[in-house]
Amino acid sequence: MTGPRPVRAARGTSITAKSWQTEAPMRMLANNLDAEVAERPDDLVVYGGTGKAVRDWASFDAITRELTDLEPDETLLVQSGRPVGVMRTHEWAPRVLIANSNIVPDWATWPEFRKLESQGLMMYGQMTAGSWIYIGTQGILQGTYETFAAVANKRFGGTLRGTLTLTAGLGGMGGAQPLAITMNDGVALVVEVDPARANRRVETRYLDELADDLDDAVRRVEAAKAEKRPLSVGVIGNAAEVFPELLRRGVAIDIVTDQTSAHDPLAYLPKGIALDEWKDYADKKPDEFTDRARESMAEHVGAMIGFMDKGAEVFDYGNSIRGEAKLGGLERAFDFPGFVPAYIRPLFCEGKGPFRWAALSGDPKDIAVTDRAILELFPENESLARWIKLAGERVEFQGLPARICWLGYGERHLAGLRFNELVASGEISAPIAIGRDHLDCGSVASPYRETEGMIDGSDAIADWPLLNAMVNTASGATWVSIHHGGGVGIGRSIHAGQVTVADGTDLAAAKIERVLSNDPGMGVIRHVDAGYDRANEVAAERGVRIPMEHK
Ligand code: NAD
Repeated sequence: MTGPRPVRAARGTSITAKSWQTEAPMRMLANNLDAEVAERPDDLVVYGGTGKAVRDWASFDAITRELTDLEPDETLLVQSGRPVGVMRTHEWAPRVLIANSNIVPDWATWPEFRKLESQGLMMYGQMTAGSWIYIGTQGILQGTYETFAAVANKRFGGTLRGTLTLTAGLGGMGGAQPLAITMNDGVALVVEVDPARANRRVETRYLDELADDLDDAVRRVEAAKAEKRPLSVGVIGNAAEVFPELLRRGVAIDIVTDQTSAHDPLAYLPKGIALDEWKDYADKKPDEFTDRARESMAEHVGAMIGFMDKGAEVFDYGNSIRGEAKLGGLERAFDFPGFVPAYIRPLFCEGKGPFRWAALSGDPKDIAVTDRAILELFPENESLARWIKLAGERVEFQGLPARICWLGYGERHLAGLRFNELVASGEISAPIAIGRDHLDCGSVASPYRETEGMIDGSDAIADWPLLNAMVNTASGATWVSIHHGGGVGIGRSIHAGQVTVADGTDLAAAKIERVLSNDPGMGVIRHVDAGYDRANEVAAERGVRIPMEHK
């Protein structure tokens, strides 16, 4: 069978692969394509515009078959979502090595990528789609929660209570925004062009309400803001029209951002094109569509700058919309910052980033056990405790039960080792897959996002993610990936991921200790090298060895 079909990861404690080290990638790949998890599973698209888990259905079948038979000293090689070889390695080596969407820099453009993709030679792996550790919208929820908490700390006295945030995009990632804002006690107005996407967020309780029209939406959010009542309201419309309209009406908006799929101009609907014409138009006339999308983005970003001029806190939320708006002719496109330099970099200096794990049993009780373990391990961390508690109450699992929280250098390996002990003792019923987003402290070069505005100007240096992938491979990760173009689009980023399986064995413990120290350790050394004082302090306090003084 090679065509689309419903896919769901196996559950329970008996396995079809030869060990949990190969059962885990098989289940996580299937989980990425579960209809509860993936945005368009029939097309193998998991999230982020066109981010795919595998190249085609035949590749899905072949990967599953190979993982079923793979020996503990073999490694499967995956090139842009297609299995291309099995090599004899050793038991400390990763069971899967993945390289997705990588193109030699001079050729790294969307048109070149699309040409290769249409010839069946490549796929776009986004970040966690092609590396099989996407866990649904919760994955981004924690990062979004942290970002809005940082906005609250910077501008609004530590809470979003009584503030109104305007944003757009209710897709796989963007769908986390309304819940992250209400978790910070704020009011959110979210513009989405596709009613199906908006309804899906209401069904999964990420969005509280969908308004009938813009007037109704404005009424609802203004009332909630006045009453200081957390509320999220979606409205169907095109952001390139709605943002300028709200600016014209003078609606008092405190914070503005955006998470439409702007990184890929074909995944951003220009104004004046109907939803049901979108795909056909983009397929048939990609260049014309791209020009129109960029023009619309220029209007959309122009309105964001209008709000900024009126005093709002405005930031780019990692989708390259400033870059596209600039190409659309907007001179001031880069007047507002990206969210990483504005709020996240201090966390990166501590090796902090989006640590996540999934219960391979499929049993939510296993995640409850890990939640308690995290609370016991880090009792002094109040915002972590708040998050774990809120997540337990408000996050609906999609696919295999999973959890995410931001942990730093010196913390992640403690969590991983504890999970491994709980698997060994039987308190957790089956192994845990421990991974992270590629958006992490030391695993990405992305000058419009994670490495924007580095203090030493090293934004575009991509040696770091490559070293990260190599050190994770050398440290015993279960699967390791190197991708290009995630988040911000082809030509604009290079990044790496790892997943390590806690199967309760001593060998897994030895690997976990190394991977979950060295992986965030890359974040510390990357920021020490760039000259960040906080990273220097962390390295000194926590014993990260740095051979040379900062240049
Ligand atoms: P997605 O494709 O699943 O969703 C995008 C949504 O935008 C869709 O629902 C689409 O209908 C809507 N949309 C498109 N054009 C629109 C318009 N003109 N007006 C209103 N709505 C419109 O993508 P996603 O996974 O939600 O990711 C969104 C963006 O965020 C991507 O560019 C992605 O690369 C980026 N991203 C950011 C981070 C981060 O940490 N900040 C992380 C991952 C992804």
